[in-house]
Amino acid sequence: MSMLKDIQKVFFSKEELEAIARRLGSQISRDYENRNLLIVSVLKGSVIFMADLMRNITIPCKIDFITASSYHAGTESSGNVSVTDDLSVKDVHGYDILIVEDILDTGRTLQKLSDIFARKGANSVTICTLLDKPERRDKSVKIKPTYIGATVENEFVVGYGLDYDQKYRNLPFIGILKPEVYDNTNAQEETH
Ligand code: 5GP
Ligand code: MG
Repeated sequence: MSMLKDIQKVFFSKEELEAIARRLGSQISRDYENRNLLIVSVLKGSVIFMADLMRNITIPCKIDFITASSYHAGTESSGNVSVTDDLSVKDVHGYDILIVEDILDTGRTLQKLSDIFARKGANSVTICTLLDKPERRDKSVKIKPTYIGATVENEFVVGYGLDYDQKYRNLPFIGILKPEVYDNTNAQEETH
């Protein structure tokens, strides 16, 4: 059965998401001219945005992937963030790292990743997030995203890489699910 029956409302269409990737891609291409750009996609949520964004970046760059996990209870993330699959680049010295994330919520995940890259000696660390939920930011979080696709209210969104219970990532748009879809959710270890 189609996933479309579970969608309550579409927030960002395929065309709007493509326009975001174009806008941020050209900004990044200007800002990182003559730098040593390493784009790090946070798996799994950012893969679709990453694929669109990198095709709009016109300067030479390298790409890499990292997986961060935290203990989730349904749609809430906890503070315990750990790296479960590290970069394939072992020495980040000299790289200008751009972390690409699907959504910045409490900010704990990207605070942790930014701290790790800075401690390992990256030349610079900046953040490009498709979506930002500034209302939700944890008080302990210091990082600020340099590139933001769009700001969203405090609602749980899915699609274009973003999951609920590991599903709905393959929707070509971003929207919210009908409330009845969230019934029967238990605490679980979840990959971003
Ligand atoms: P943070 O550490 O900023 O609280 O959590 C960021 C991660 O939580 C995101 O990478 C994403 O996996 C998940 N997350 C936060 N808000 C949402 C949301 O509205 N929808 C989905 N699908 N995931 C979210
Ligand atoms: Mg997730």
